[in-house]
Amino acid sequence: ARGPAQLRVRGLEAWYGESQALYGVDLDVYPGETVTLLGRNGVGKTTTLRSLMGILRKRSGEIDFDQRSILRLAPHRVAHAGMGFVPEERGIFASLTVEENLLLPPKVANSGMEMSLDEIYTLFPNLLERRHSPGTKLSGGEQQMLAIARILRTGVSMILLDEPTEGLAPVIVNRIGEMLTALKAHGLSILLVEQNFRFAARNADHFYVMDHGVMIDSFAVAELPAKREALNTALGV
Ligand code: ATP
Repeated sequence: ARGPAQLRVRGLEAWYGESQALYGVDLDVYPGETVTLLGRNGVGKTTTLRSLMGILRKRSGEIDFDQRSILRLAPHRVAHAGMGFVPEERGIFASLTVEENLLLPPKVANSGMEMSLDEIYTLFPNLLERRHSPGTKLSGGEQQMLAIARILRTGVSMILLDEPTEGLAPVIVNRIGEMLTALKAHGLSILLVEQNFRFAARNADHFYVMDHGVMIDSFAVAELPAKREALNTALGV
């Protein structure tokens, strides 16, 4: 037995106005685990992250984080509980320098995992080099690293990442992979939406496959080879 899940989701339904997007999502993330959500465009992966974080408010079902319900909490309260979100559009301040972006986020959660500026710069040497550059001057990979680094400053114990490798060159994708390994070593749990299957295969402990607003499969990384065929069908590869 591996103890209780850090994030436990049951029967999660969510709506954009009258339009239902999630139809009963079940999902578990165990402490320190990296979990990847796979699925075609438009099946509800981003919506799942937005619903967990409380950004999309019209929801029902169960969302327990550290064994406490967060279903009714606003996003800043979810962050206080220890969950951080890096959206696909990254959300850094373009007019501020790298260092200003890093100094801005307050510590919001008490996991003991918040990183000092020194720790951030050790983990992301590029950001140290670029610390006086404005956000506008950063490459896509540097922006992604800055967006993640900002969340690490807040002391959350779980990080939700929406397609961190989107639009990045292969060498930078590898850098993001190394960074995920370091975050895992730091003790963080990671829930990742990812279209880059090779990246996901290299960096996740557990997978969920999503279709039409529900999870249609779930398996550990060891089962991946046996799942290849089924995944090609489910993902339309
Ligand atoms: P992608 O990889 O393209 O982001 P996804 O799996 O993350 O795909 P979602 O973005 O979660 O999918 O979208 C799930 C469904 O919700 C889709 O049918 C989409 O059209 C719908 N949807 C997403 N955002 C909104 C919105 N702001 N208003 C209305 N419907 C939306």
